[in-house]
Amino acid sequence: MREMPPTAGLPLSLLELFGTGGGFSRAAQDYVGAPHAGLACSGTACFVLILTALHRLSGRRTVIVPAYTCPLVALAIAHCGLKLRLCDLAADSLDFNMEALAALCDEDTLAIVPTHLVGRVTHVTPVLRLARKCGAFVVEDAAQSFGARRGGQSVGLEGDAGFFSFAAGKGLSLYEGGLWVTHDPVLASAIGRAQDELIVRDVRQEFRRCLELAAYALFYRPAFLPWAYGMPLRRALKKGDLLGVVGDVFSPGVPMHRVSGWRQGVGRRALSRLQAFHRQTTIQAKRRLAVLDRLPGVQVFRDMKDEEGIWPCFMLRLPDQYKRDYALGVLWGAGLGVTCMFIHVLPDYGYLRPCVPQDACPNARGLAARSLTITNSPWLDDAGFARIIGVLKQVT
Ligand SMILES: *Cc1c(COP(=O)(O)O)cnc(C)c1O
Repeated sequence: MREMPPTAGLPLSLLELFGTGGGFSRAAQDYVGAPHAGLACSGTACFVLILTALHRLSGRRTVIVPAYTCPLVALAIAHCGLKLRLCDLAADSLDFNMEALAALCDEDTLAIVPTHLVGRVTHVTPVLRLARKCGAFVVEDAAQSFGARRGGQSVGLEGDAGFFSFAAGKGLSLYEGGLWVTHDPVLASAIGRAQDELIVRDVRQEFRRCLELAAYALFYRPAFLPWAYGMPLRRALKKGDLLGVVGDVFSPGVPMHRVSGWRQGVGRRALSRLQAFHRQTTIQAKRRLAVLDRLPGVQVFRDMKDEEGIWPCFMLRLPDQYKRDYALGVLWGAGLGVTCMFIHVLPDYGYLRPCVPQDACPNARGLAARSLTITNSPWLDDAGFARIIGVLKQVT
């Protein structure tokens, strides 16, 4: 029995657990070519640091995010005591609906958060133009896109600030971790000050993360994943607990603690292999995109001409929810790395009710209802991929 992970995480070699510590922050900063950067214990923590700094600079309180994004984004905004506004996506797109966005901007808009979902590159330039007009900042959520580029420049650096995630399942993993980046020296020192104030030493929490990272290194393999990923998933499926299946359940607090030298050392050694890994997964992605493109009525999100995204998984939009649900019904528990990105749009998570407005956002809602993801892990062999294609052909 083998089980595919839902995304192409970079597997750790056990040897990488040993050696000198530290240095990850600098190495990751150099990897993306960021003029200023800092390491925190999660992408969410980085977002909190950025928002805190921006709020201190401008005093404004409203943050505009896409309606289809990670619930942690909403929890971070609430954690900072700021107000969230939802913007719908454009039709058939992962980009903002620019008309809706323009209508949402006002004199209280602190930041707009274009999001580079599933390794794709979202259009930041028009968002930046709008933000400049209303005096807002642009924060790029690049949590899922460490290594993605447009015109040779890393995502996260076109806006005022950006952040990446190194959580398990997001490619390169420290089990939990994040990097904030900016090209602006004034913002960098403001974020740095927030970091000095808000990030504390937490020996217990960090010790737990070290054990989790070691366990990740041991068990992130097809032979162990049925036990570490597949069994809990199938148990949640049986109970009809879809949030549990996707892992969309989060506790409200945002941990803010330092990342130890040991975890940084592990990440630094793994990072030296990341570019080659991305090259390998991109080759596989191009081959499989050609097959996915032949599915009638299915939209596969992909890059435009000057974009070089990364390929943790493929995101597909099926013609309707019925077909999507049927395909997921067959494939979700099959161990082939098929799942969906987020179950709901933000307003539909019960536990986010206190901090997310109940807006319609029809395009984002349509995407949540009709999309699924297929892993691009190198462990998914051609036979496994063909089985997935077989099921999709039946429904489309
Ligand atoms: C995972 C994720 C985050 C949060 O990153 P963590 O490192 O898990 O805190 C933020 N935004 C998006 C789009 C994500 O997928």
